[in-house]
Amino acid sequence: MMAEHDDKLWANSGDSHAMEPADLWARNLPKALAERGPTTSRDERMETIHIDGQVVFRTLASFFDGGASAPGTRDPHLRLVDLDEEGVWGQLMFPSLGLWVTLVTDPELSRECIRVYNDWLLSEMMSVSPRLVGVAMLPALSTEDAVAELARVAALGYQAVMLPCTAPEGRGYNDEVWDPLWAAAEEAGVVMSFHVGTGASPKAIRGSGAVVANYVETFIPGQRVVTHLTACGALERHPELRVLIAEGGASWVPSLADRMDEGWRQHGAFAMPKLTKLPSETIFGQVYASFQHDRSAVPAFEAMGYPNVMWGDDYPHMEGTYGHTQKTLHELFDGTSEATRRAITEGTFNRLFDVPARTVT
Ligand code: MN
Repeated sequence: MMAEHDDKLWANSGDSHAMEPADLWARNLPKALAERGPTTSRDERMETIHIDGQVVFRTLASFFDGGASAPGTRDPHLRLVDLDEEGVWGQLMFPSLGLWVTLVTDPELSRECIRVYNDWLLSEMMSVSPRLVGVAMLPALSTEDAVAELARVAALGYQAVMLPCTAPEGRGYNDEVWDPLWAAAEEAGVVMSFHVGTGASPKAIRGSGAVVANYVETFIPGQRVVTHLTACGALERHPELRVLIAEGGASWVPSLADRMDEGWRQHGAFAMPKLTKLPSETIFGQVYASFQHDRSAVPAFEAMGYPNVMWGDDYPHMEGTYGHTQKTLHELFDGTSEATRRAITEGTFNRLFDVPARTVT
């Protein structure tokens, strides 16, 4: 409309988070399981996350609060105000506390915790605005449970589902046990998402340099997901299935595709199953990747021809852009073509998810 907004860049976010009430599972799980869902506790210094009687994560309370400090963190109405200010229109919402449910090893507890989360996300967040696109969690310990929950949430209107990046023991993503789920997701047209840092302890490394090294470690399992789904032919067998690796950056995708092409070209004669397409064709066609700040993500689209690069704000987490979204978008896109900017900030998202047309300028 007016000149004062010319400078504002709008984007959809392919990586954001809902923030569950701490007592969500205690209140809503079946009585026999109510004590075993995710909870947090705090002393003067530390925040501790418990699930099923185990401590799954301990961190500085100040670090924990830093990832939940936006005014709209817990209130969807205030969230929309935050988004309008930041210049974010549609938001793909992953869990926060719920991410820890991916560490549960009891199939019944996993299934019930996930059901509670998916019902809450729909009724308390998604129902407030179609700009808030929720990702439903799926139980990863049983394909039957995953297929059943997928059918349930797809019928409720969910456009995306998620599994942990690190698959449960004995259920690697190259295993055919998953095929009914890939088929069901393809059939339902929902995006099969994997958010970094799920399914394994985030403290892989201790000692010198551990903070940054562990942050890097979280993005490696997502690369394994793509490698395994491509190499075992699952993506070829389900050509309409779309896979999103969220918060893992984007420039690794063309690099991984090269590596897989090399493996296929040089060792393919010994490979089972036989692939009918180059891995890079499958990956560029079916794999999507979201990033927040990475300077290499824009060239991955522009110079390397990887079409599925998607920006994300990671709101409200500390790794995200809340409070500096406009600065980040300008740093990324001032000096690129408008077509590039629109593809990465809106186009890729809009190919995956339906959100209403933007009404704010
Ligand atoms: Mn995220």
